[in-house]
Amino acid sequence: MNSIIHLLPDHVANQIAAGEVVQRPASVVKELLENAVDAQATSITLLVKEGGKTLIQVIDNGSGMGDTDARLSFERHATSKINSAEDLFRLHTKGFRGEALASIAAVSHVEMKTKTEDEDLGSHLIIEGSSVVQQEPCVTPVGTSIAVKNLFFNIPARRNFLKSTTVEQKHVIDEFQRVALVHPSVAFKLIHNGSELFNLPAANHRQRIVGVMGAKTNEKLVPVKEETDLIKLTGFVGKPEFAKKSRGEQFFFVNDRFIKHPYLHHAVSSAFEGLLKDKAYPSYFLYLQVNPQSIDINIHPTKTEVKFDNEHAIYSILRSSVKHSLGQFNVAPVLDFNKDSSMETEYGLHKAKAKIPSIDVDRNFNPFESETKFGKAARPAGASPSRSTANWESLYTEILEDKEDLMDIEVESEQISPSLFQGQATPYQTSGTFQLQRKYIITSTKSEMLIIDQHRAHFRILYEELLKNITAQPALSQQLLFPLKLQLNTIEIRVFKVLKESLINAGFSISEFGEDFVKINGIPNRLPESETSILLDQLLSDFENDIPDSGFDQTDRLAKSLAQSMAIKNGTLLQKEEQTELVNLLFSCKEPMLTPLNRLVFVKQSAADFDKKFM
Ligand code: ADP
Ligand code: MG
Repeated sequence: MNSIIHLLPDHVANQIAAGEVVQRPASVVKELLENAVDAQATSITLLVKEGGKTLIQVIDNGSGMGDTDARLSFERHATSKINSAEDLFRLHTKGFRGEALASIAAVSHVEMKTKTEDEDLGSHLIIEGSSVVQQEPCVTPVGTSIAVKNLFFNIPARRNFLKSTTVEQKHVIDEFQRVALVHPSVAFKLIHNGSELFNLPAANHRQRIVGVMGAKTNEKLVPVKEETDLIKLTGFVGKPEFAKKSRGEQFFFVNDRFIKHPYLHHAVSSAFEGLLKDKAYPSYFLYLQVNPQSIDINIHPTKTEVKFDNEHAIYSILRSSVKHSLGQFNVAPVLDFNKDSSMETEYGLHKAKAKIPSIDVDRNFNPFESETKFGKAARPAGASPSRSTANWESLYTEILEDKEDLMDIEVESEQISPSLFQGQATPYQTSGTFQLQRKYIITSTKSEMLIIDQHRAHFRILYEELLKNITAQPALSQQLLFPLKLQLNTIEIRVFKVLKESLINAGFSISEFGEDFVKINGIPNRLPESETSILLDQLLSDFENDIPDSGFDQTDRLAKSLAQSMAIKNGTLLQKEEQTELVNLLFSCKEPMLTPLNRLVFVKQSAADFDKKFM
């Protein structure tokens, strides 16, 4: 019988093996940067075109390679970094498998120039799909330059699988940042499509973090330091009040490698317990040094997991060190988000003697009528109540004094309410509305009762309005007396540039666009000034990880993000007029049933349902 097993041709085997190392341009970036670091470079430049799809080039001033090494470096399992299996336990380099260059060369066009200090001439190699097509002497500075072109040129399926330039660029930036953050003494540059995104001089850890994450980061950092037999821990955590709405700034480095570790992440998060607002993620940049023998070193090149021998102990050390730092830098005790600020004593009243409240009951007083005046909800979306209940005592007397004015209340509230929801709604025939728990608006039609989630309803209304503004009919904006300056990091600036036009149509006006800041001198009409930076922060983090390519997706995402942040929150008291207006506007929407994120805006109960309940 004929044998059916045969050896795969080299180029096929190489391509298959390459698939494990090279998944996308960012994988190449990681390998090349790490090789440059391993070669003791003090200055590394990364040039990228189209998110790395057409070019990835790394130029370093490291050791360089001689003729023979230059050629050998592209062979599989060719490495200068280990000789024996025991070396794995003494590893101080990033690479050791000798696979990266071979894998990269199997799926791209590579050009390398390299020279050592001892030689006058360097080598120039051109490799295409694993075979060296040219090697000749050349004039080149000490160090190595490797250019990787046309990634996956010979595997169309993988090439087609690559994402848009913006997405691939984001991955490239991620890898660049990870390597740069852990080697502050090396100068790094990143140039994308000819424009310089990062220029990081040699620095200390703190300066490097600030260089990578943006100037505004400096004031947010709290140092962490601990040394035990088990680990040496250094780095920084972000102050809780600056916690981000996205997980963007969380970095663990173990023995100078970026890792992801859900269990250790939990240790850090739990140190922040009680200090963070809802859905906020703490930033951290933590560098752990452990004995290489205490971790599983056989790390796969593309994986970021690592296994520790003493996970539990490391968990405790991490948690308590972070807690300690937050406490020591006076961060922890100052903040207590669980406490209702309205319950705190006014500053000047701290030392005042307690007054005994005099109770003077007015039997004609109707608390429900007074609601409309004192529970003013006619404030911009999301703003906190203007009247603090801390002054409940004076509030109470005011109510009593003002009781003759109760007749005026209706008038006053009518003037205020239209500011909350702008737009012309076709009146929806309701038989009145009612607010339940400052959250639901209850109304009815002929035969049904509707229970509407106020936040979701407003989210839907604003979304449709913003879509219209951005695409067809620019929104009105209010001028700010003092322009708002936002410090932004490289990624945020990029997001801002892409969204600029749409933001202007949504009602923002931008007076200055700097290298690492924008100045905003106008904001959408309904947006309270105090909310602006929070809203933009949220917007940037919504877009940071992935800017949609198509104009439609962009507009849609922007409208969703802005509408969600601007929509009235649950817990906001709404006046009758506002309730009616909300209902009217909702039912003039194209899709009143669902929020833009496809969640139910209201539920219905028919009279027949009630009939059944009362049987
Ligand atoms: P590894 O890094 O696992 O050893 P690579 O395939 O990444 O494997 O690289 C193979 C070898 O090529 C390295 O061990 C190193 O000796 C040499 N090399 C690669 N990049 C550089 C560089 N930028 N400068 C000097 N030598 C390099
Ligand atoms: Mg390597």
